[in-house]
Amino acid sequence: MADYDYDLFIIGAGSGGVRAARMATSHGARVGIAEDSRVGGTCVIRGCVPKKLLVYASGFAEEFEWARGYGWTLEGATFDWPTLIANKDKEIDRLNGLYLQTLKNNNVVLHEARASLVDAHTIALTKDGAEVGRVTADKILVATGGWPAMPEIPGIEHAITSNEAFDLPEFPQRILIAGAGYIAVEFACIFNGMGAQVIQLYRGEQILRGFDRDIRDTVATEMRKKGIDIRVNCSIIARIDRQADGSLLVTQEDGTTIETDAVMFAIGRDPKSSGMGLAEAGVAMDDIGAIIIDDDFRTSVPNIFALGDVTHRIQLTPVAIAEAMAFTATQFGGQPTSMDYRDIPTAVFTQPPIGTCGMTEEEARERHGDEIDIYKADFRPMIHTLGGSNERTLMKLIVDTRTDRVLGAHMVGHDAGEIIQGIGIAIKCGATKAQFDATVAIHPTAAEEFVTMRTPVPRLKQAAE
Ligand code: NDP
Repeated sequence: MADYDYDLFIIGAGSGGVRAARMATSHGARVGIAEDSRVGGTCVIRGCVPKKLLVYASGFAEEFEWARGYGWTLEGATFDWPTLIANKDKEIDRLNGLYLQTLKNNNVVLHEARASLVDAHTIALTKDGAEVGRVTADKILVATGGWPAMPEIPGIEHAITSNEAFDLPEFPQRILIAGAGYIAVEFACIFNGMGAQVIQLYRGEQILRGFDRDIRDTVATEMRKKGIDIRVNCSIIARIDRQADGSLLVTQEDGTTIETDAVMFAIGRDPKSSGMGLAEAGVAMDDIGAIIIDDDFRTSVPNIFALGDVTHRIQLTPVAIAEAMAFTATQFGGQPTSMDYRDIPTAVFTQPPIGTCGMTEEEARERHGDEIDIYKADFRPMIHTLGGSNERTLMKLIVDTRTDRVLGAHMVGHDAGEIIQGIGIAIKCGATKAQFDATVAIHPTAAEEFVTMRTPVPRLKQAAE
């Protein structure tokens, strides 16, 4: 082997990159990593973690309302955005420190610089546009993640993405959110819970395309009940103008105008792969810049690998981490390991949240035709009996009638993410409906519905729905 500085050089210190670094050193590899922003990546710095903190913050408003029915008087509760943001920043600093410590404890050499490929084994490191050094590596892993997509329209400089939403100097009283995927619906609920008037604009006929239809309908209903103005089948935004009073005037393609204080685009995330010398080094990418890889995360250049959001497949932190585990076990641990992408559980932190694992009813019908049974529980959760809210919970199981296997479990309701994580284990193990039924319930919980649903939705009714 040529005498390289590193056995593995990783570009990008986010969830995937840091895990790969730590695991590769545990297998004895000499590892360097480059990061030109803060160590921790999207999830820790401007994604999952700060988002969940904002979700907690915004949930208190309705909990204060429910508390009245339980005898509490909470007059004069007020919300202070700068306090929340300052406290959130402290927590992100703490986590960033832990990530830095992890790299140090594992003898990973951190280069706080931007990395680009000079050739398949040489990386140039630049800071403020000037080259500060070069390193060589036997293997290179690209784990640079993604970045919010923005349309090229007049006035786009007035709009924000989730990146900026975490640090707005002032809380917007009115906000318009474009898109209806994970980020758009989560932020619609966050801003609404904190008291903003929220309009959500979506080009399709129902929010959250790709999720189970009942889940989409239920969460849209609940979000509307809480005051979010979800507008579907909308023409997209054509321009944004700043008005004399500081507000924004949004004009849709069909000429409709909306006045608001902030506009947020959440229309997907693009892979972060440009300006790094990848194409020049021969790394093949698709038309949106996603790095093309094989089952071993290998790119078209044999010693260069990629994983996580830069490959634009399943854009979830735990997926990038699992990919990093498989990559390092295969390349450095002597244990060829494939990543299993089936039945990945996921949650959307709307209010109420969604938890989901396995096939949607629509996917199951496509694959299994009529040989599926649907079980549903739709109820008002116990907390609302005294709390007074008319919010509903939906739980749903999809069962293969030939094998009795549970193909999918979906939920909208409190703690859906927490509940579906456990159900996800059962689905991964190939549990049957009979095994769900044989599981003793925990009473009184909402989760018990997953083991007490006995009667499938009648076939005729299913067909009519
Ligand atoms: P998504 O891909 O989930 O959703 C994009 C949304 O924007 C869709 O509603 C899409 O519509 C719409 N859209 C796309 N292009 C345009 C356009 N040109 N004009 C108008 N609307 C458009 O992306 P997000 O940005 O919400 O999130 C990115 C990814 O991050 C997610 O897919 C998810 O994997 C991950 N994530 C996960 C979270 C979690 O686990 N809780 C939280 C946040 C993000 P259409 O449906 O018609 O294509």
